[in-house]
Amino acid sequence: MRRTLVTAIALALCSAAPDASAQTAAQRSRAANPPMLEATTQLPRNVKPSHYAIEVTPHADRMAFDGKVRISLDVLEPTSTIVLQAVNLTFANSMLTTRDGRKLTPTLTLDAQNQTATFAFGAPLAAGSYVLSTDYTGVINTQAYGLFAIDYDTEAGKQRALYTQFENSDARKFVPSWDEPNIKATFDLTVNAPAGQMAVSNMPITSSTDVGKGVKRVVFQTSPKMSTYLLFLGLGDFERATDMVDGTEIGVVTLKGKLGQAAGALEASRLALREFNDYFGVKYPLPKLDNIAAPGRSQFFGAMENWGAIFSFEYILLVDPKVSTIGNVQNIFSTATHEIAHQWFGNLVTMSWWDDLWLNEGFATWMAARTTEKFHPEWNTRLRAVGGREAAMARDSVATTHPVVQKIDTVEQASQAFDAITYSKGGAVIRMLEGYVGADAWRQGVRAYMRKHAYGNTVSDDLWGAVQTAAGKPILDIAHDFTLQPGVPLITVDAATCAGGSTTLQFTQGEFTRDRPEKTPLRWRVPVVAQAVGGARVDTVVAGGKGSLVVPRCGAVVVNAGQSGYYRTLYGAAPFAAISRGFATLPAIDQLGIMSDTWALGMGGLRLASDYLDLAHALPADADPALWSDVAGSLSALDGYYGGDNPRRARFRTFALSVLRPAFARIGWTARSGDSAPVQLLRTQLIGALAGLGDEAVIAEARRRFAQGPDDAVAMPAALRSTITGIVAYNADAATWDTLHAMAKAEKTPLIKDQLYGMLAIAKDKALAQRALQLALTAEPGATNSAGMIGAVSGSHPDLAFDFALAHRAQVDALVDSMSRARFYPGIGSGSSDKAMIRKLRDYADKHVAPTSRNATETAIANIEYRLKVREQRMPEIDAWLKKRAG
Ligand SMILES: [Zn+2]
Repeated sequence: MRRTLVTAIALALCSAAPDASAQTAAQRSRAANPPMLEATTQLPRNVKPSHYAIEVTPHADRMAFDGKVRISLDVLEPTSTIVLQAVNLTFANSMLTTRDGRKLTPTLTLDAQNQTATFAFGAPLAAGSYVLSTDYTGVINTQAYGLFAIDYDTEAGKQRALYTQFENSDARKFVPSWDEPNIKATFDLTVNAPAGQMAVSNMPITSSTDVGKGVKRVVFQTSPKMSTYLLFLGLGDFERATDMVDGTEIGVVTLKGKLGQAAGALEASRLALREFNDYFGVKYPLPKLDNIAAPGRSQFFGAMENWGAIFSFEYILLVDPKVSTIGNVQNIFSTATHEIAHQWFGNLVTMSWWDDLWLNEGFATWMAARTTEKFHPEWNTRLRAVGGREAAMARDSVATTHPVVQKIDTVEQASQAFDAITYSKGGAVIRMLEGYVGADAWRQGVRAYMRKHAYGNTVSDDLWGAVQTAAGKPILDIAHDFTLQPGVPLITVDAATCAGGSTTLQFTQGEFTRDRPEKTPLRWRVPVVAQAVGGARVDTVVAGGKGSLVVPRCGAVVVNAGQSGYYRTLYGAAPFAAISRGFATLPAIDQLGIMSDTWALGMGGLRLASDYLDLAHALPADADPALWSDVAGSLSALDGYYGGDNPRRARFRTFALSVLRPAFARIGWTARSGDSAPVQLLRTQLIGALAGLGDEAVIAEARRRFAQGPDDAVAMPAALRSTITGIVAYNADAATWDTLHAMAKAEKTPLIKDQLYGMLAIAKDKALAQRALQLALTAEPGATNSAGMIGAVSGSHPDLAFDFALAHRAQVDALVDSMSRARFYPGIGSGSSDKAMIRKLRDYADKHVAPTSRNATETAIANIEYRLKVREQRMPEIDAWLKKRAG
């Protein structure tokens, strides 16, 4: 699954900082919780299903469906009850058929709290094979879980399409089942569908028969043995494009009329399938692989890897020539490769339980990055690994963090596991270990692991064992240190002594924490790579808290050279001075790594906060665009810390604009034919950052272009359209807001319409923010846009948005997918700089969140406390630096 992504506008205008508190509006809005869901420990293992034959008849008009299922199962030891999972289903005609044809009628008990259905038989069933059959009815949801509907606009009026989303625990809302990842079975799916619609599932269609009254009966081929969360059904007014790769039919399925926007997605499937058939050494086993595009959005996810039928929201799969940017094109590629990597890591070989979810998500994150770097070197996405690591470390450096491998007991805890630790730290640890054993040994280990566990389930040590055998080098201890304990190692470079043409480095290992300076550091075995400018890379493993390394050459020596290590580096005064002097000669990725460390260590009080400004101020104009992007983000973050203090903020802004304006002057508003992808991205980031810092000329130019209208391709090129509209929306007065509102209402393209409703929610004017909140509670924006709008309001007005959401909790709960609810409210409040919010969050959690699901609340509180600490302790250092510079 791909987590919900953020738009460039939100990033540029609403974000506070490149730290965890800096989650953008959209990220922040992932979450919330209905009743206190503590369901699910695992089902009894005395009965095991082997096959499901499911027939469903959706009634889209009344948001309900009828189902019939026949489950072939084995009773492994005598029992008088069969327990499986079911939620919001109503049963009729349940029956158990024995091998010799006897029919037993069970007594049925439903347990809503534990999400189970128990079929009781009065007397023990002997071990052996049976078929459990039942009829049932269920509901069609308005948010993206279970079987759900998305309503969308067309020129011909409103339409409704149906899709399913089951990860992590929502297959049980579609079919009574053993809905746990390590209980795999095969599936036959039949759907009675409107004759004019297209039905899509994991497998190709076996037969489609007209059964009269405008209904057709569509039967799909039997699926391979797989986990329930991978089952998929889509139904609507679709069209499909296909191609063949290595004997597999690849397809893209879109709403009718949108197929022309799917070429990039089809190309990504083509490249990735061929690449992964080779990389994994096991050929993709299904006859087809579709990627299905749906309008709308979810607070929880952007795309889902259902086997043979990947689901993606349109914003992450289609390229609309009117609004899509190079950033969108890159997201489409990386999302498609992420989901296709899951066809192996996740679908063919599945984690045994949610404890090891990172085996799915960390691996897909790493694989998507690797594949993007390989096929699109011109995007220069290699430097993004540093950003991924930063996202993980921001989360991993507060007390509420957790190990990559963690204990999961409840459905809600499983949902909360889809976080930066599982994805980004998981991916970063893989990058580090691949670097440690070498890419060839790593791949050989992965291939052996795939062969051995195909169609089965694993735990992390199965992967480590395979890689260790392939590498002939012990990695188990290092892997355990980084996955079984939480936190971020801190490598301090105590001394760098030059003698005889080489440098001797002395290290100590501590722990980087943002909220527990007094903490006794954990111990890791840390693979450390170092390199002097122009010299060879050397490495060691720092163990037991100390280490040393002799590096050829003297001068600026970079620790964590290449930046594949998951740790922070704190240089002593002399080594840092040498690096600052030689900064321009370092590889871009090391420059970025050093700036990121300097920022985080400065904000955490381990260096002067202003050390980052020294680096930013001296950054060469022709530095890699990723570095300028980092500077733009960090200066915007510092600006956020000045909120409410206009005189100090004005002095800071003068400096920040003096740094960013020359960088923007080199790039300008107008695209040039030779612009690289990173330059194109940087253009939008700098425009957004300058506008956010109050650059009147940039804001005026955005307004001038916006006034030309969206059809003026010179004033509003696709690459800048959402950036310009975002600036106008952020700075809107009531009349402008009304104009945007009218545009959103009139728009017929779902992708653009959704974006416009999001824009209405980013206004910095409080009265307009209030109007956006009111609008979000109406049916007008569309059921899947409203929660995102509330989240977007919280970008500039966290306290207002939180109070509003809480005051309308029943209405808001209905607008958030069930899997995101435990995070939604804390996410909205987490951007606050008001101490009172801490109490409000605690109060909210006490009343509405199960004790086992309060991590998101505690993390939001930790971020607010950290923000207050930065304002009080770090910003005076920034002020002193500015004063000294001015004086
Ligand atoms: Zn994923």
